[in-house]
Amino acid sequence: MSQPYQICTRCIMDTSDPDIVFDDAGNCNHCRAWFTRAAIYNLPPQERARLLESVVEEMKRRGHGRDYDCVIGVSGGVDSSFCAIKVKELGLRPLAVHLDNGWNSEKAVGNIKRLLDPLHIDLSTIVLNWKEFRELQLAFLRASTPDSEIPSDHAIVAAFYAASSQHRIGYCVNGINLRTEGIHVREWSQGHLDSRYIKSVYRKFTGKRLRHFPLIPVTTLVRNIVLHRPRNVFLLDYLDYDKQAAKRLLMDRYGWEDYGGKHYESVYTRFYQGWILPHKFGYDKRRMHLSTLVCSGHMTRSEALAEISRPAYPPEAVAPDKAFVAKKLGITVEEFDAVMALPRKRYGDYPNLQNHWAFGRGLDVFRFFKHTLHWVS
Ligand SMILES: [Zn+2]
Repeated sequence: MSQPYQICTRCIMDTSDPDIVFDDAGNCNHCRAWFTRAAIYNLPPQERARLLESVVEEMKRRGHGRDYDCVIGVSGGVDSSFCAIKVKELGLRPLAVHLDNGWNSEKAVGNIKRLLDPLHIDLSTIVLNWKEFRELQLAFLRASTPDSEIPSDHAIVAAFYAASSQHRIGYCVNGINLRTEGIHVREWSQGHLDSRYIKSVYRKFTGKRLRHFPLIPVTTLVRNIVLHRPRNVFLLDYLDYDKQAAKRLLMDRYGWEDYGGKHYESVYTRFYQGWILPHKFGYDKRRMHLSTLVCSGHMTRSEALAEISRPAYPPEAVAPDKAFVAKKLGITVEEFDAVMALPRKRYGDYPNLQNHWAFGRGLDVFRFFKHTLHWVS
């Protein structure tokens, strides 16, 4: 944490990631890794199309005789919405899964409906128990680890697992893609799949056990990871995905409405990413997204630097949105401020799967097989 300030000379990642490493040319580990992983973009378009065609054929073959070929997640955002359109164009039969955690903006709900109805895509909406989920979110804010969205992210994956298990669906097609979100900082966000972490934080700050929240059992997690079940297909990486063009298409053809920022379809996500994270932790997630866009050539480094210099949150929106979030969480603004003032913690400060003695050893063995013996691809 004590290293002097440094910013990458190729992207705009900097020492706000405590684990960042620079080479002699001043390039960081994040963009170096991005260019390695993005080798698929160097393939000729017809080769990428051929690869996609074989994946789609396999999905249709596995889905034969079943209700659906794949699960898709829909948040109402650009990536997942565009992905839904492409899935239908490829002739696949998707089941859309949406998580209602109580924070979705009306605009997001409207966008999902405007898209799925004309595409004739079935929608399964998972509604979380609000009273318990509110307590869980408050517990995570009190825990003071950087990523307050871990419970929502966990619930989404749990919903994918449940849908794929219920309908025997072998594939999950998602809008995650290297071009717009291929850079992640581990220290800023850890524990998405970690049921032990979520249970321990809830218990520590409420004194209760979770009763309704859809936790992923460790046995299910291990089985699904080892067996690649459901298998993830990163559809947009096979295409020449251009987010701005996708947004225009969504607006022109489906009446989709813009939110004004990545993941801003949820009020909580907007406030957490735009204000809580930079304000309390000094982390600005825009830095990851903008750096990815620089790597993928959708933005110049100068444009990204100009963008990051603007406020992460509209100053005039902080007070009303903070009041809204506090009220929805059932506390006063003064109590919310007191929670924000609690000392910062890390994922490892709480019981989790990685620091569980048995699971930790198992994880080491899994990594050994994965990396050394190419047990799984
Ligand atoms: Zn870099």
